[in-house]
Amino acid sequence: MDTVHIAVVGAGVIGLSTAMCISQLVPRSSITVISDKFTPDTTSNVAAGMLIPHKYPDTPVPTLKQWFTETFQHLSEIAKSAEAVDAGVHLVSGWQVFRSVPHEEVPFWADVVLGFRKMTEAELKRFPQHIFGQAFTTLKCETSAYLPWLEKRIKEGGGLLLTRRIEDLWELQPSFDIVVNCSGLGSRQLVGDSTISPVRGQVLRVQAPWVKHFIRDGSGLTYVYPGTSYVTLGGTRQEGDWNLSPDAELSREIFSRCCALEPSLHRAYSIEEKVGLRPSRPDVRLQKELLVQGGQRLLVVHNYGHGSGGISVHWGSALEATRLVMEWIHTLRTPAPMSKM
Ligand SMILES: Cc1cc2nc3c(=O)[nH]c(=O)nc-3n(C[C@H](O)[C@H](O)[C@H](O)COP(=O)(O)OP(=O)(O)OC[C@H]3O[C@@H](n4cnc5c(N)ncnc54)[C@H](O)[C@@H]3O)c2cc1C
Repeated sequence: MDTVHIAVVGAGVIGLSTAMCISQLVPRSSITVISDKFTPDTTSNVAAGMLIPHKYPDTPVPTLKQWFTETFQHLSEIAKSAEAVDAGVHLVSGWQVFRSVPHEEVPFWADVVLGFRKMTEAELKRFPQHIFGQAFTTLKCETSAYLPWLEKRIKEGGGLLLTRRIEDLWELQPSFDIVVNCSGLGSRQLVGDSTISPVRGQVLRVQAPWVKHFIRDGSGLTYVYPGTSYVTLGGTRQEGDWNLSPDAELSREIFSRCCALEPSLHRAYSIEEKVGLRPSRPDVRLQKELLVQGGQRLLVVHNYGHGSGGISVHWGSALEATRLVMEWIHTLRTPAPMSKM
């Protein structure tokens, strides 16, 4: 076999980063990203894009830490290159504050972000409702820039982007040798995975260029994340809610919670509402699957279910998916009885 034809289903941060990673690391591969929606219409576009990982109940912490570390290192390289502005990746410093001392005073990711330390009494005076805090510098990946940048890199590498809804992965056979499923919440229908469900998130994007530090309430529910073109104010976590329309009452509530953390936001202007559905699952599904039907076989790699923290781990997760693609290619190039696959 010469060139391996690979289809990546999904064009959110997971699909595009996986496509780019495969095209960089897998020789003699041809990549086609197939998706019903592209930037700016994906869940990934709604994400604030802060690199602060979220735990998944069934994904082991060492695995999660590895994905986060790989993602942080990868984006750090971009942030210190001339590409930083085009890619929308930059460093941001700030505080995570708690109303009571958290169970884990030093989280598992503390040595991955930069300059992690406990906040001083003087710093905490700014947050009279909070008694404990962590100060650190992390990265922000603005998906409104990062996704188009990824698309451009994929095309420059010879990859194709196709707008199409896939109802069944078998539609991609025999045109493709391997299918990588990065369809996020779409996997509920596409591969019949009933363990994935939406966690609705509503945020506001406001103009408040004087806000330079991020502030995150330790509950993760309220946050102020400054970026290059707007400040994201969050948020909500509504399990099982599929409603993509903004709720004005929730917007007022988010604004008031954020103003309590950062009173200067009362002067914010140009307020926009955004809603996204986090593709939530007990663990990220990162695995190979061999589908067999009527004597035909379809080699699949799944990479979906990144819930609240997909931006934070996307590159590590793409590297892992790429390793699985390489294993399938090895299988394709090594004739073996099907029973051994
Ligand atoms: C309000 C909010 C704030 C967030 N903030 C952060 C944050 O600060 N940091 C962080 O790390 N994470 C954050 N997240 C989480 C992050 O957005 C997700 O984890 C991530 O975007 C998931 O990426 P994805 O590519 O799997 O999904 P998506 O972006 O949803 O992409 C899925 C893709 O698959 C395509 N697709 C689906 N089904 C089909 C089909 N049948 N045929 C063809 N194409 C299909 C879709 O069109 C889409 O292109 C936030 C999420 C929300 C909602």
